[in-house]
Amino acid sequence: MDRLHNYYAGPAALPTEVLEEAREELLNFQSSGCSVMETSHRSKEYDAVHNEAVSLVKELMGLDDKFHVIMVQGGASSQFAMVPMNLLSEGKSADYVLTGSWSQKAIKEAKNIGTVRVAADTSVDGVFTSLPKQDELDLDSNATYCHITSNNTIFGTQFRTFPNVGNVPLVADMSSDILSHKFDPSPFGIIYAGAQKNLGPSGVTLVIIRDDVLQQCNTNLPTMFTYKTHVDKNSLYNTPPTFGIYLMNKVLNWIKSNGGIKGVAKENTAKAELLYGTIDNSNGFYVNNIPADDRSQMNVVFRLPSEDLEKKFVADGLDAGFLGLKGHRSVGGIRISMYNATRLSSIEKFVGFMNDFSAKNG
Ligand SMILES: *Cc1c(COP(=O)(O)O)cnc(C)c1O
Repeated sequence: MDRLHNYYAGPAALPTEVLEEAREELLNFQSSGCSVMETSHRSKEYDAVHNEAVSLVKELMGLDDKFHVIMVQGGASSQFAMVPMNLLSEGKSADYVLTGSWSQKAIKEAKNIGTVRVAADTSVDGVFTSLPKQDELDLDSNATYCHITSNNTIFGTQFRTFPNVGNVPLVADMSSDILSHKFDPSPFGIIYAGAQKNLGPSGVTLVIIRDDVLQQCNTNLPTMFTYKTHVDKNSLYNTPPTFGIYLMNKVLNWIKSNGGIKGVAKENTAKAELLYGTIDNSNGFYVNNIPADDRSQMNVVFRLPSEDLEKKFVADGLDAGFLGLKGHRSVGGIRISMYNATRLSSIEKFVGFMNDFSAKNG
């Protein structure tokens, strides 16, 4: 059977070229006589992969020497706790912008550790369908950091421009839109992302830390939970997730060969315009009520006239070769996740299916 058009939210589609290369190298990596999975994390072959991944993140995101790039385990969910463990000591307070289920979880972890202020909460009856405007943020200028979720994977909203929080370091969970569009990294103290949406397979978590923020971090934590450990040892204090980092390296090279962030961002915008355009021009058959400025380019959520039609849409979609159309179990409806690896040609085929489906069932 052929590979399907894969719109799963995460783990998500990887570029086919990356998988093909990995298959090619699987048994014998660079004539080392073994797989990259089977070699020491201190070997020269692995070392080159590891260091190239770090330098590609810096190059693609335009990070200068003020930023450290580390790769750890535990997923973004561990970062929900690691950020406050490292930064939120006695007497300090952090602002959190609450825009969805992932920010909710980040807040829960931070509250276990220190003082949290919710700087905005856009929920209406437990549902988050918009982002706060700048003047709707209740910011504390003395906050140790201000945490945002850059892209709300479940609700389909995305900060295309980031809140202005003055001199307070922004901390962002970018799990579902890292490396998808260009932005100025300088206001960010910490950026973290689980790899399994836009960067590679699950098991690697990318963390970017600005040096002045690193200098404020707690160092009396257990070794593995201290950011400084991983920065000082270039993410090689213990065994890193070597195969995941190897695949991430390939994804980063793939982004670079596709025009870098500018190139993928252009394609992401084209995909989003096509899909939202199809929804908005469906005479109300497909509905997405998120304000235009807040709509995510990564996760597009929409409803059909009934749950029965949504079920049929998912089933007919699968028959037509489209995988992973179902919305998150907490919100229902349809969700199309189209990270960097999803090509415009795939979305062109998908909107063809959508137009056929609405014509037959509308
Ligand atoms: C998927 C996701 C997470 C969870 O990541 P894990 O690596 O599974 O812990 C956290 N935040 C956002 C925004 C996500 O999309």
